[in-house]
Amino acid sequence: MQQKKDYYEILGVSKNATQDEIKKAYRKLARQYHPDLNPNNRKEAEEKFKEITEAYQVLSDPEKRKIYDQFGHAGLSGGGYQDFSKQYYQDIGSINLDDILNDLDDIFGFGFGKRKTSQGRKKQSYYRPENGTDIYQTVTISLEDAYNGTTLELEVPRYVICDACGGTGVKSGSESKVCPTCGGTGEIIQNLGFIRMSQTCPTCGGVGIIQEPCEVCNGRGLVIKKETVKVRVPPGVDNGSKLRIPGKGHSGRFGGVPGDLWIIINVKPHYLFERKGDNLYLKVNLSVAEAIEGTTLEVPLITGKTEKVEIKAGTQPGDKVRLAGKGMPKLKQSGYGDLVLDINVVVPSIKDLSKDAKKCVEKLKNEQKITNRFYKSE
Ligand SMILES: [Zn+2]
Ligand SMILES: [Zn+2]
Repeated sequence: MQQKKDYYEILGVSKNATQDEIKKAYRKLARQYHPDLNPNNRKEAEEKFKEITEAYQVLSDPEKRKIYDQFGHAGLSGGGYQDFSKQYYQDIGSINLDDILNDLDDIFGFGFGKRKTSQGRKKQSYYRPENGTDIYQTVTISLEDAYNGTTLELEVPRYVICDACGGTGVKSGSESKVCPTCGGTGEIIQNLGFIRMSQTCPTCGGVGIIQEPCEVCNGRGLVIKKETVKVRVPPGVDNGSKLRIPGKGHSGRFGGVPGDLWIIINVKPHYLFERKGDNLYLKVNLSVAEAIEGTTLEVPLITGKTEKVEIKAGTQPGDKVRLAGKGMPKLKQSGYGDLVLDINVVVPSIKDLSKDAKKCVEKLKNEQKITNRFYKSE
């Protein structure tokens, strides 16, 4: 049998080193031989790493250190301290290298992050809480509903806790059996020299027992169910507005929190009004005489009411008449946008006019002289 190296020598500390010195020495060496920092000679680094970790685990434990000081390696591996040593070897033997590295990262802040290959067998289980995911649902409403606000009653299919198993995923009244793969330990041990590496059991996922899955949810713990959800849509919503209803997404599993329900608003195009932000636009046709003389119009509003609007004499095609506060409600602040009348003038053709009207046009021709025929467009 190979002679084991002295633990103090391995860590490079004196026999009467303090706990602090031992910790410091180990920390320095652990950094040096951390397998993640030695990708080119990972195997050797791992060996060295295990060696210093073994030394540290003994010397940092006052009781083990005392036995080691008195009896050396023999004190820990057999002889008069067999019972104790058995337990001790089991302790360190079943430690997973990834667990050690994770713990080190936690203690010393090496910052290598959590390893994905093994998540520490005690933490991994079927019953790890899983949060529910969000649900997205698109809803089409009218512009009038967007103006007034509305209450929707939506049928939302969502995962909810299975009543049959109470969300456990286990068939009620079924007996749990010890996992045949791992014999109930939840892990599979591989012997690699001194250190035994452990792996999470793939059959039971580390739980150690196998249970009959619930027949209603197939072990998922959740079933899909259509639920009616009332959603209050505030006045002023626009295309793409998102409304969040907390907790109305899919239920979580095994104690996880439910997700949210997101309602994405789609506003149907209106037959009359065009919307741009909080403003509404309405095209208005005027006759030539109305444009010349001015007029009063009864303008329809999104509310269903009408409003009397004065159109002044000499109104031009393309003129905009703004009715303040007659647009859409503002979603994020108080107040309303505007209703903008976009003026057009309908010009008749001479051949559609009566004799009298033709005479009027002749007169108008003499009176209206164009002085700025061509000009630069804006
Ligand atoms: Zn179930
Ligand atoms: Zn198992």
